[in-house]
Amino acid sequence: MDKIKMKTPLVEMDGDEMTRVLWQWIKEYLLLPYIDLKTEYYDLGLENREKTKDAVTVESAEATKKYGVAVKCATITPNAARVKEYNLSQMWKSPNGTIRAILDGTVFRAPILVKGITPYVPTWKAPITIARHAYGDVYKNTEATVPAGSKAELLITDKNGNETRLPIHDFDGDGIVMGMHNTDKSISSFARACFNFALDKKEDLWFATKDTISKKYDHRFKDIFAEIFENEYKTKFEEKGIEYFYTLIDDAVSRVVRSEGGFIWACKNYDGDVMSDMVATAFGDLAMMTSVLVSPEGYYEYEAAHGTVQRHYYQHLEGKKTPTSSIATIFAWTGALAKRGELDNIPELVNFAKALERASIKTIEDGVMTKGLAKLSTIENKTLVNAEDFLLAIKHRISL
Ligand code: NAP
Ligand code: MG
Repeated sequence: MDKIKMKTPLVEMDGDEMTRVLWQWIKEYLLLPYIDLKTEYYDLGLENREKTKDAVTVESAEATKKYGVAVKCATITPNAARVKEYNLSQMWKSPNGTIRAILDGTVFRAPILVKGITPYVPTWKAPITIARHAYGDVYKNTEATVPAGSKAELLITDKNGNETRLPIHDFDGDGIVMGMHNTDKSISSFARACFNFALDKKEDLWFATKDTISKKYDHRFKDIFAEIFENEYKTKFEEKGIEYFYTLIDDAVSRVVRSEGGFIWACKNYDGDVMSDMVATAFGDLAMMTSVLVSPEGYYEYEAAHGTVQRHYYQHLEGKKTPTSSIATIFAWTGALAKRGELDNIPELVNFAKALERASIKTIEDGVMTKGLAKLSTIENKTLVNAEDFLLAIKHRISL
């Protein structure tokens, strides 16, 4: 069989620990035998981030702007323990944070549904996609501890040097204070990304904030969404028979739990961070969740929603076989390859990506799975496999 040819390279962002091991296996067993894989490789592993003073992360994001589509392996976000473990010269920032800050955009996270794994919420029949605003708020904050007797104010200096001072708090005792921001531009592109994604998927879009309490900050999000919807999307939504609706975050949470799924839930940055873990877990497992960052200019970065699976990696280093699931990382690759195929008009590449997704799902539905999934699956006669054998079982089921 001739290998599928690619035109434009994918931006390949390699990562850390167990997912770095999976990354190699996925390429070796599932991609390279079928595709003349064309990638521009960036090593975002922590050692190389240290070596390049994190320049490699910025370069990989710039390359994504150049080529349009990237696929990213999970990476370590260093904390104090990691600084020691890897002998780092500084506590490098989260690569995802750096990439999101450069590309802007919205992160869409959707669970992968398979037969035999039933959501914890019995009414959920179809996936719920979380659309997470990936800019600003608490992720780009300034914060401080404040000693007793201090006074905190918000100071805004406009371009003419005029100052506005707003009181925050007079501290009788010790305390804490935080400043954060967002921009109309980023909120507007978040709104458009969500509306476009809803049209693309033909699914309703829900959006919620805490605008009753945050009358300026959260209210601005609500107003921008409403204005853009009214002016640019209302008719298109009507034509497709889908709906946009806004509600309070508390109300949204309770409605989501009572819903049947099958919609997109747009969330502010922090809400999206925590709610996507809730939704992923309730649908089964973090290892069954895909994630794609869509920038306002139409750049795409695909990844798994889970981390580097550190505990498994240490077992792997001891020579043990681990039950790590590669599903979400495979779907990051298939998402990126299908998008590349679509943009470059290579139907064989799109078809291959779909075939690999079908083979992955069929493997689990045939009862062949790793330990974590087996705990959730109600299928009888399960065969438990390790990470590498799971990939081989998928390969065995690829039919083009
Ligand atoms: P994690 O790597 O997602 O793993 C947490 C636990 O979830 C694992 O110990 C494992 O449970 C289970 N798990 C996650 N993915 C799995 C998979 N593919 N197959 C089987 N089980 C899986 O999160 P973490 O331990 O909090 O973080 C580890 C490192 O990942 C950290 O350095 C963090 O900075 C980084 N991280 C990166 C990203 C990213 O790059 N997008 C996201 C999150 C975290 P058991 O141990 O019980 O088997
Ligand atoms: Mg989270």
